[in-house]
Amino acid sequence: MTAPVTRFAPSPTGFLHLGHGYAALFAAAAAAGGRFLVRIEDIDAGRCRPAFETAILEDLAWLGLAWETPVLRQSQRGPAYRTALARLIDLGVLYPCFCTRKEIAAEIARAGAAPQEAAGLDGPPYPGTCRHLSGQERKTRMAAMGGAALRIDAAKAAGLVGALSFTDAGEGEVAVDPLLLGDAVLARKDIGTSYHLAVVVDDAHQEVNLVTRGADLLPSTHLQRLLQALLDLPAPRYHHHPLIADETGARLAKRNDARAIRVLRDEGMSPAEVRALAGFPD
Ligand code: GLU
Repeated sequence: MTAPVTRFAPSPTGFLHLGHGYAALFAAAAAAGGRFLVRIEDIDAGRCRPAFETAILEDLAWLGLAWETPVLRQSQRGPAYRTALARLIDLGVLYPCFCTRKEIAAEIARAGAAPQEAAGLDGPPYPGTCRHLSGQERKTRMAAMGGAALRIDAAKAAGLVGALSFTDAGEGEVAVDPLLLGDAVLARKDIGTSYHLAVVVDDAHQEVNLVTRGADLLPSTHLQRLLQALLDLPAPRYHHHPLIADETGARLAKRNDARAIRVLRDEGMSPAEVRALAGFPD
């Protein structure tokens, strides 16, 4: 079996909390006998701060983790994302979307679809408003609005690649539902890429062959596997792990306060104690 290459991929939008600590320790443990990488997912310059990146790397080192250098920063990977987008455009599976969030919500309400939130999804899928705009309409709006987001035509893309699956350590072989996330945005108007596109391009670039991350991201894997197939990228194996919860059962990922690793440090906890608290006793 090939040696594992795993990564911990935080977004520097806040301090690491215990849930992140768990994910990082999990990824590092899964890399035993192989390579452990850290990737800074900082495509969203409006939300990311260099000071958080510094603090995250400091906390990881404090926890006793060691990773390969240099650390890859997604903010420096624009050309690679543009190349991938160009390929998807060539395949004819992207279309420009001019909708605002408000317009999308109104369209969903108008269509009478209950805005139910499937587990792990951010909300109901995009209703497809811009999918069938004519070439002329696209030109007019592009000129008026100075740009657009690019969405994947998920049904069309699925038709190009046929049936897909991915392997998850817990779930086994999972059949891809290419429509699960709908026509997701692959390039935001403001940042020219998206979480999904950047992750797929970078996991391949970094030769990550085992993606470990929280079970909340399992729905994303359906879309990401589709993108790998479209872009001819290798499919890593996956291990979606449970999210650790606080004493009230609330997911730590949703909180940004008491369980920050730096708070635990400041309170006098040792790295070994925090590792144990995160479920990784020495
Ligand atoms: N950057 C993502 C996050 O902080 C993780 C992405 C991934 O592991 O695929 O939730």
